[in-house]
Amino acid sequence: MTSQQALELVGAARRVCVLTGAGVSTDSGIPDFRGPNGVWTRDPEAERMFTLSAYLSDPDVRRRSWLNRAENPAWAAQPNAAHRALVELERSERLRALLTQNIDGLHQRAGSDPGLVVELHGSLYGTQCMDCDARGSMAEALERVRAGEPDPPCLVCGGILKAATISFGQALDPVVLRRARQAAIDCDLLLAAGSSLSVEPAAGLVGLAAKAGAAVVICNAEPTPYDEVADAVVREPLGEALPELVAARSTRPLGR
Ligand code: NAD
Ligand code: ZN
Repeated sequence: MTSQQALELVGAARRVCVLTGAGVSTDSGIPDFRGPNGVWTRDPEAERMFTLSAYLSDPDVRRRSWLNRAENPAWAAQPNAAHRALVELERSERLRALLTQNIDGLHQRAGSDPGLVVELHGSLYGTQCMDCDARGSMAEALERVRAGEPDPPCLVCGGILKAATISFGQALDPVVLRRARQAAIDCDLLLAAGSSLSVEPAAGLVGLAAKAGAAVVICNAEPTPYDEVADAVVREPLGEALPELVAARSTRPLGR
């Protein structure tokens, strides 16, 4: 049963900003990084594939990354109850922004308005040249991998091609980050769901919202560094907790 305080807060909120992490997609068969079954929990070496300097300097890391992308569980994944609950929240006209650290596109596939979704860490569906910044489609790049190019170069300049996602050591798009920060400042409630809140600057959006006076509800199976600024923390599985929270209604306005 979701905590009464969390139900009250979400039920009373009128301008909700949601921040999601890999935990909302685990029920869709996409492992998170740091949960008990996470990619890094099982193979700490995998971290190199998501580190920009290693990707740029080591062709082996790039080849492993392309194989990993070709076999990424995201391609076969379907949205789950957690994604659908956030579509419901949008239908209730209380959702102002859906900030996601996920790169899997499942919020949009579940039916969330792409205009409300802010992909802080980019998208697996695109590619980016690390030299000339040319953008392309992941489907085309993966075709080339399958046709025998283990590390396909940029077709424009011959440079190193990567998924259009943010690796460790790579800055977020400043326009995207500004939009996310504004959304965190403008909301009356920030709901963080399925994130260990250990990756900055995304995690800092929680503190930013709290400082600006928003209520904060954190929904995550494990403790996070931001639990102490939260007004309520929910530990239940997201597939159950989010539908319950979104269905909650309160007549008491958020008094903060
Ligand atoms: P994380 O792996 O650091 O944390 C996920 C958290 O979700 C964990 O604390 C875990 O306990 C919790 N969790 C998992 N399943 C849950 C469930 N069903 N109910 C409740 N809690 C659950 O993920 P993060 O904070 O998003 O940071 C990881 C980074 O890796 C992100 O920057 C993201 O870009 C990337 N990533 C994305 C995906 C994806 O797109 N689906 C998957 C893995 C990693
Ligand atoms: Zn290029």
